[in-house]
Amino acid sequence: MEISGKTRLLGLIGSPVEHSKSPAMYNYCFEKWKLDYKYLAFDVDKDETEDAIKAFRTFGMKGANITMPCKQEVLNYLDRISPAAKLVGACNTIVNEDGVLTGYITDGEGYVENLRQEGVEIKGKKITILGAGGVSSAIQAQALLDGAREIAVFNKRDAFWEMAEKKTKEYQDAFPEQKITLYDLDDAKRLAEEIKTSDILSNATKVGMHPLEDVSLITDHSLFRKELVVTDVVYDPEKTKLLQEAEAAGCKVIGGLGMLIYQGAAAAKLYTGLDMPVEEIKQNFFVK
Ligand code: NAD
Repeated sequence: MEISGKTRLLGLIGSPVEHSKSPAMYNYCFEKWKLDYKYLAFDVDKDETEDAIKAFRTFGMKGANITMPCKQEVLNYLDRISPAAKLVGACNTIVNEDGVLTGYITDGEGYVENLRQEGVEIKGKKITILGAGGVSSAIQAQALLDGAREIAVFNKRDAFWEMAEKKTKEYQDAFPEQKITLYDLDDAKRLAEEIKTSDILSNATKVGMHPLEDVSLITDHSLFRKELVVTDVVYDPEKTKLLQEAEAAGCKVIGGLGMLIYQGAAAAKLYTGLDMPVEEIKQNFFVK
């Protein structure tokens, strides 16, 4: 489709963005849907976020995906914030409706939808989640919104711990009927106890991706009972060491690639109201 005077601009805002597959993925969809939209990547640092949103407004952009390091900062410059984005304190999608900018977060939705596509429902389930960083917070919020019964969060006492304590309290206050507890990841006994009573074990740390591709946070393989569903947010490698070992023990395993594509599909739906051809996108842009 040719660029015209009416072409609307969308984009990715954050840094680094040059290796992102988002431009290829969204432009493919816009062509397929015959929408006069184009999508570019803009390298924007955290302290340039306000300027970027001003430019977004000036240029009447249709929408944008927001990535690190702008995901939290951007909330200061929007007109409306979705309940999930407010809860998480971060935004990965902005939609412009007649000059009103609304911020959403679709990471958690992507995780839950990926599980749903694999036949795993979150409602009523207990989840043990490893890690309490940005992606984990988004998954926790969506799991609570979607009716998870209980969440046990494990993190090391590293730079994330203080924020994790604050977030756990906020989430517990917002969802008093559900249970959410933070534990020290180095407490192996507690970790084993929580996994034994969980339906889903979710790795939401950087462990499993380069340079930690040969590491798994679960070393006691007797915890991999057959009914346990084991998931990972890491998508490169597609099957982390954790997933390989859990699968070998007979567990159902779900990797992070589907989450990545479904969070993009949720953003595309917000921009256009249309359903992304997920399998086509996966084959064209993500399968090596
Ligand atoms: P983050 O920096 O916000 O959080 C990192 C987390 O990893 C923290 O909980 C930290 O304590 C933990 N961690 C780091 N090193 C560790 C170690 N050696 N042992 C134990 N815990 C450790 O990062 P994030 O943005 O939440 O990203 C986490 C992972 O999610 C990354 O691997 C990233 O590639 C992946 N990710 C996946 C998707 C997807 O759609 N599938 C999207 C974004 C990010």
